[in-house]
Amino acid sequence: TLILALDFGGTKLAAAVVNAGAREWLGYDRSLSPAASNASTDLKIMRSLIKSVLQDRKPAAIGVSFGGPVNATTGTVRLSHHVCGWENIPLQQLLEQEYGVPASVDNDANVAALGEFRYGAGKSHNNLFYITVSTGVGGGWILDGKPWRGAEGMAGEIGHMVVDPTGPICLCGKRGCVERLASGPYMAEDAREELQRGGGEVIRNLVGGNLELITGKVVSEAAAQGDELAQELLERSAWGLGVGIGNVANLINPQLFVLGGSVTKAGERWWKVIHKTARKTALPEVNFEIVPAALGDDAPLWGAVALAEDLLQ
Ligand code: ADP
Ligand code: ZN
Repeated sequence: TLILALDFGGTKLAAAVVNAGAREWLGYDRSLSPAASNASTDLKIMRSLIKSVLQDRKPAAIGVSFGGPVNATTGTVRLSHHVCGWENIPLQQLLEQEYGVPASVDNDANVAALGEFRYGAGKSHNNLFYITVSTGVGGGWILDGKPWRGAEGMAGEIGHMVVDPTGPICLCGKRGCVERLASGPYMAEDAREELQRGGGEVIRNLVGGNLELITGKVVSEAAAQGDELAQELLERSAWGLGVGIGNVANLINPQLFVLGGSVTKAGERWWKVIHKTARKTALPEVNFEIVPAALGDDAPLWGAVALAEDLLQ
């Protein structure tokens, strides 16, 4: 029984096929989404990826991870923050009609949470929260062993939880959101601003004096090399996420937090501050663990496999 798994990311598209129950891809292909892409160019690229991974085989079900809000009940995409033209696209229906098999579509953080729960760092934890810390910050729930999406599929938006009401302004208009403090691009933006005032020599040298080239990765490299400003920026970023995690622990009491996304590679210091801050923010009676994701970039694809396997039950 073949399963087709699709990942519509903000900047990347991927397709893979696997035998139900197996844990190794039979076929895998990915492509960058072009800078000026829209929903129909993304769909066109995805069709050719599907053709290349399926060859002449037919899948029994299709699971889909989409990088944006989705109505998972109907499988309709609500919109994409990165790619235009996705407003109210009935993606599940399109795929079911085109390939003649059942499909299931959900938001990428929810799908990655399901992937980590079934096959990754969250196995045997029935109550977990998955957080991705990358270009943005998002989250997805597994509660009582099942995805929990909230009334409108918007549950898990830890990125726009306010942890510092007097903090810097976020793209959503509020101040001091977790994403505003912890995401890679915002860490870079704050570094640029601080560098105008001096300091941060290591950061400056790493980008040859061109501040436009600063990224979250550059900040964490500078911190590892002992740059004080970079260390402060990284700690503030980890502090913001740690407060968010502690608050979530108090509110919902999951056993496990699984952290994925590129910023989680920021190093030991970053992880330490997260653990310490989350522990301090949560009540002493509230217990939890915080662990790195196990599936890496493939978490949404493996979650999509789980969505499809559930269709075959
Ligand atoms: P993606 O994870 O979506 O493939 P990138 O690899 O470009 O995207 O990374 C997303 C963000 O994470 C960028 O802002 C990047 O600077 C940041 N980032 C990547 N690696 C690290 C790292 N080791 N430490 C801190 N931030 C990082
Ligand atoms: Zn925000």
